[in-house]
Amino acid sequence: MPAGSHRFQVGNVWCTVLSDGYVANPASWCFPNAGELELAAALERRGSSHDHIISPYTCLLLETGREIVLADAGLGDSSHTSGAILARLEVSGIRPQDVGTVVFTHAHPDHIGGAVNGRDRLGLQPVFPNARYVMAEAEWDFWNSPRADLRSMRIGSEAKSAILSVTHECLHALRHQLELIDREIEIVPGLRALPAPGHTPGHLALLLASEGRQLLHLGDAATHPLHLEHPEWENGFDLEPDRALTTRRALMEQAVANDMHVMAFHFPFPSVGHVASRNGGGWEWMPGW
Ligand SMILES: [Zn+2]
Repeated sequence: MPAGSHRFQVGNVWCTVLSDGYVANPASWCFPNAGELELAAALERRGSSHDHIISPYTCLLLETGREIVLADAGLGDSSHTSGAILARLEVSGIRPQDVGTVVFTHAHPDHIGGAVNGRDRLGLQPVFPNARYVMAEAEWDFWNSPRADLRSMRIGSEAKSAILSVTHECLHALRHQLELIDREIEIVPGLRALPAPGHTPGHLALLLASEGRQLLHLGDAATHPLHLEHPEWENGFDLEPDRALTTRRALMEQAVANDMHVMAFHFPFPSVGHVASRNGGGWEWMPGW
């Protein structure tokens, strides 16, 4: 497989993590309430820049034998560091028309932008023509509310405006194929959507179970391994930081208690691994399959 994709099995289900690309965000957006020195030391230990955090976009392809499901679609080609998802799918033998279900953990542009194509004269069109697009109803309601308010996010104001307008455009283009869910539900056999609010009001985690093996997809409930080591460190992209923290803790406890494989969309590629409790609090990220 070429760099940017990694295939593994959860029970009977073939899983492939596919990189759509990445973004470099200011560290202050990713860790707005972290102490400056403590953050610098933590990034230093990881060999990372103090100023910018490389945040990969990692989508998950599931092939159950009957169903082809894509979890999140990446940002798409609106940035010069993203837009690889269709090529990655093609190399994996998947054509856009083969995808039966696209599930969005939430409606931020880096998760839904790759599901629409703007090069058509008709305007934005769904990239996966035969798919149903599954998302939480609370997510749809939030972004389509005239009161949709991003003031609580601790990122730059231009980024907030871009998120609002791109999300609106994409959801509008997908509206005829959207399937909105309002509770924990099995999307296809073995794959459950779990309400995991905080990052956004309708944020979902995903739990894949097959033959006694489990993979918990955190979506953006944690966007960097340091959010596990320091669960009190907020993510500036969270709309409701307190609720996001409660959700993050609950998902981590579930993952540790059940020895689950874990995936997180923005963690260093291939974005899969395990978690373990740390002495003194928080969790350790152990990458790899
Ligand atoms: Zn994201």
